[in-house]
Amino acid sequence: MYLHLPFCRDRCTYCSFVTTRDESLQPATVARLVAQVRSWGHSLEHPKVDTLYLGGGTPSLLNLDELAALTEAVREAFDLSPLAEATLEANPGTVDLPWLSGARALGWDRISLGVQTLEDELLKRLGRIHDGRVALEALELARRAGFERRSGDLMVGIPGQDLSRVLEDTRRMVATGLEHMSIYLLDLDKNCPLKADVDAGRLSLPSEDEVATVFEALQIELPRLGLPPYEISNYAKPGAESRHNSRYWERRPYLGIGPSAASQLGDLRWTEAGNIPAWAEGRAGVEIVELDAAEALSEIPLLGLRMHRGVDWRALRAAAESSHLLPLVDAWEAQLAPFERGGLILRDGPIMSLSERGMLLSNGILSTFV
Ligand code: SF4
Repeated sequence: MYLHLPFCRDRCTYCSFVTTRDESLQPATVARLVAQVRSWGHSLEHPKVDTLYLGGGTPSLLNLDELAALTEAVREAFDLSPLAEATLEANPGTVDLPWLSGARALGWDRISLGVQTLEDELLKRLGRIHDGRVALEALELARRAGFERRSGDLMVGIPGQDLSRVLEDTRRMVATGLEHMSIYLLDLDKNCPLKADVDAGRLSLPSEDEVATVFEALQIELPRLGLPPYEISNYAKPGAESRHNSRYWERRPYLGIGPSAASQLGDLRWTEAGNIPAWAEGRAGVEIVELDAAEALSEIPLLGLRMHRGVDWRALRAAAESSHLLPLVDAWEAQLAPFERGGLILRDGPIMSLSERGMLLSNGILSTFV
């Protein structure tokens, strides 16, 4: 289950998420989230939930009473007996020890902190509300509050960022003992202020080669620091992989609640509208798509090859055969053959996976299934 809290203290210059600074909307949005959690739990007849993720936006802007009300609603409306992970996303600039300890006491056991970089000048460029010192402090405070599972986001491709500083930031973050790191490429939405600066020539993005060099260096450095990769963008100490995200890549059903949240149950996928005031008042629409058999099948390799453990190709062929889609898999195999000859795809018995180089060039490979 995913819950979306669409509030941020300030808007980052690169952000394209559904979020607002208008905190006057927060009480009504939280009340609606609580009501929706109850209503979904009732209509799905109290189903089991094994991973929970509160993202945003900035969930750490919830006060502890609001977080308690939301947590309680989930606990009452769903069966959390198999719960394996409950993750909170947090902005390092919004947390302190009492809040983190309170959240931990409510049962949240994993925290994902948006560090992005430890360079203050770059953080300002990104419009982040914290500096590097505060980000490191937040990782430490989370540990002191009892979060044994902590993840830090690191961003690559920021104008002005260089390889040696990325590696230094990585080492400093890992030195806090965190168990998981997500590496993101800066992706500029067409309407964001940072894009306007880049388009006007005031800032320039690193070249594709420079970015690839950074990703390659991280592929070597993070395992050396004890965090091997388990997915294209994610590295973790063994056993500390994100269970919630792994369920998306395994194509397991998920329920998302909140403005812009997406859900998939069976072959139905839907996304709630991103208009926050309308969502809070219960008058926002929902876009529903029904996946056909070919789309559903193509998502197995599209998502599964993101993970280092790869895809059981024999099982995929069996699934294709039962839905009369073997010619589609044959066509994929023909398209993938050059990647395999080039060492970007590996085969180990029935398991197909991407090599390290294949992970770097995954966009080109995975477009086979789109
Ligand atoms: S904190 Fe996250 S969601 Fe909020 S504006 Fe920044 S990038 Fe967007």
